[in-house]
Amino acid sequence: MRVVVTGGAGYVGGFAAERLLELGHEVTVFDNLWRGHAAGVPKGADFIEVDLRDAEGVMRAVRKAAPEAVMHFAAATLVGESMGHPRSYFGVNVVGTHNLIFAMVEAGCSKFVFSSTAAVYGVPERIPILEDDPKKPINPYGQSKWIVEQMLPWHAEAYGLNYACMRYFNVAGGASHRGEDHDPETHLVPILLEAAAGKRDEFTIFGEDYNTFDGTNIRDYVEVHDLVEAHVLALDKLDKPLGAFNLGTKTGFSVKQVLEAARNLTDQPIPARVGPRRAGDPPVLVADSTRARTELGWNPVRSDLETMLNGAWEWLQNNPNGYRK
Ligand code: UDP
Repeated sequence: MRVVVTGGAGYVGGFAAERLLELGHEVTVFDNLWRGHAAGVPKGADFIEVDLRDAEGVMRAVRKAAPEAVMHFAAATLVGESMGHPRSYFGVNVVGTHNLIFAMVEAGCSKFVFSSTAAVYGVPERIPILEDDPKKPINPYGQSKWIVEQMLPWHAEAYGLNYACMRYFNVAGGASHRGEDHDPETHLVPILLEAAAGKRDEFTIFGEDYNTFDGTNIRDYVEVHDLVEAHVLALDKLDKPLGAFNLGTKTGFSVKQVLEAARNLTDQPIPARVGPRRAGDPPVLVADSTRARTELGWNPVRSDLETMLNGAWEWLQNNPNGYRK
């Protein structure tokens, strides 16, 4: 298939574009290189530099790439940042996605895999979370993704857009040649490993007073290759609208558990201090992903802490400056 991968110069999008190429698809990456890296676009993919907020530019890019399917990773994705900059989050994530699916409908492209998030649930009423549980986002990031999710069934009905919403819990891991390279870096795993590598003096735990077994936040981590595989499986089944899938493992790890695992793997002390809570953080996010397993045949086999941390550590050690040579 001809597949457009938006955000293919970024972390998850880059892994996805690479996997699609491996499977023999023709890939065109759309990216504005805001937080992505030209060097992160996999070899063999075509590249169009385009900002999704530019409706005409998106229309031209979609016409040129003539995709049969779109995987849409490009987004603003930071919970904390979204609290202070809601308009950027609604601009990129809602307006940008609207422009993209508008152009897809015009071009007759009917397969859409959308990167969504556990943040659509807000503070969950029960753990593990099921797809039909209430959506009450507590930050603009989650709200922006939920708005798009609510637009999609109407596009399915009116225009025959077949979509799958992939609700990510936490994503981590890497490979020797590909990994997380964010500026600013805000994610737990790369921050811990940068501290282990001596690139940061210390690590701050965002709150130790949550109602969890050790007082720190609990998250459900999925290894990035496992995560991408769910998208590939969904793509194969997109001859009808598929709805939403939780992508998690039903196993939660606390911030302190990930810290301990990172200390063990790297054999470094990783000095840690406890700071205040980060705005917009729910205490526990753990997924029930039975639906992805039964309906897509998804089987996350690499999502244990050790494999995830190992991949991320390999990336950091081989590429201490990320994609900058
Ligand atoms: N976290 C932390 N210190 C950091 C970065 C993250 O304690 O320097 C915590 C954060 O509060 C959350 C978890 O680690 O509970 C995962 O955060 P991350 O930003 O990686 O992903 P998010 O859950 O926001 O998608």
